[in-house]
Amino acid sequence: MDTKTLKASYHAHMLPVYAPYDAVLVRGRGATATDLDGKTYIDFTSGIGVNALGFCDPEWVRAVSDQAGQLQHTSNLYYTLPATTLAQTLTAQTDFDAIFFANSGAEANECAIKLARKVSFDRHGPGRADIISLTDSFHGRTMAALSATGQPSMHEAFMPILPGFSYVPPDDLAVLEAAITPATCAVMVECVQGEGGVHILDRAYLQGLAALCRDKDLLLIVDEVQTGIGRTGKLFAYQHYDIQPDIITLAKGLGGGLPIGACLTTAALKDHFSTGSHGSTFGGNPIACAGAKVMVDRIAQPAFLAAVEAKGQLLEDSLTPCPSIEKIDRLGLMIGLTLKDQKPADVLAACLDKGLMVLTAKDKVRLLPPLSISEEDLSQGCAILTEVLSGK
Ligand SMILES: *Cc1c(COP(=O)(O)O)cnc(C)c1O
Repeated sequence: MDTKTLKASYHAHMLPVYAPYDAVLVRGRGATATDLDGKTYIDFTSGIGVNALGFCDPEWVRAVSDQAGQLQHTSNLYYTLPATTLAQTLTAQTDFDAIFFANSGAEANECAIKLARKVSFDRHGPGRADIISLTDSFHGRTMAALSATGQPSMHEAFMPILPGFSYVPPDDLAVLEAAITPATCAVMVECVQGEGGVHILDRAYLQGLAALCRDKDLLLIVDEVQTGIGRTGKLFAYQHYDIQPDIITLAKGLGGGLPIGACLTTAALKDHFSTGSHGSTFGGNPIACAGAKVMVDRIAQPAFLAAVEAKGQLLEDSLTPCPSIEKIDRLGLMIGLTLKDQKPADVLAACLDKGLMVLTAKDKVRLLPPLSISEEDLSQGCAILTEVLSGK
């Protein structure tokens, strides 16, 4: 099938919820992808933060292929090795003691929302189920995750959203405090708002928020779906802030390209769920878990995480002199560029044309290169980006 035929077929047969860019990607290796016409691209997107070890990392491919040839699915009616081993690995690396495996970020957040409500129900009785989240947050597209997403424009056509959600602007502790009512059970935040425009939350704000949650017996849920598993140079973004959430959610980078989500919580909360409280047919899928184990084992190494920060700094240093960039927001390899005059969508299209894949988020160009990217690919990508930004 050629590019033109494929595009026509796509639009004829798919629900029109996506507007793909003008490239049919057919294979990838490391931080380079190739399209149907043989053109190559440097990848500064990681499939929106998913391919943290790049395309087709050999160790990941081996783990996933071996598992596919051994046992692909059982349902959660049986024990399996990969999910159990992954849970053991993740709890050993973190401050959390128990995990629910889902298949996506939205699903991980659905679990977090249900768990927060269940804990509050058990401790305080019914009627205390409200969750406060932030303006410009993004927590997913399913109804509860969408309800938690503080972007009313995304709710409009799908009303009624779930009751019990309210939104406050980030980085204003007084407004958050005023929004807490006797019905509030939890606060849900991203430490760096990804889809909301790479907005890095203020350190004092998050620490104040964590203290407030402690004082008022509210659960702190941190959505690490985009920031987790090394993206920001620490295993989790909350670790930059010296806070301890009660629940975190993971997805994107965890699977390295296979669908998996996870909701992690503490020993104090885990037993508020019991058999039947929650579930998922595909959750904890052996193939996804075998791949995720490779991701966590590699990325959690201190030297790997230090390299993520070093590469982020390198990227920042090479883009800082660019006169058309107004501001660079960066935590590890999660980067937002505010441009002086150019539109992010135009920059994205021009980059793609020259063989570089980038993302946008609100009014910014967003960069999420594979965490494993080589300095060479990083420099080459930066050269293309700089060329595009300088209008050449
Ligand atoms: C992408 C994202 C989600 C949703 O994940 P899906 O896998 O698309 O459901 C939720 N929260 C954050 C912070 C995200 O970046």
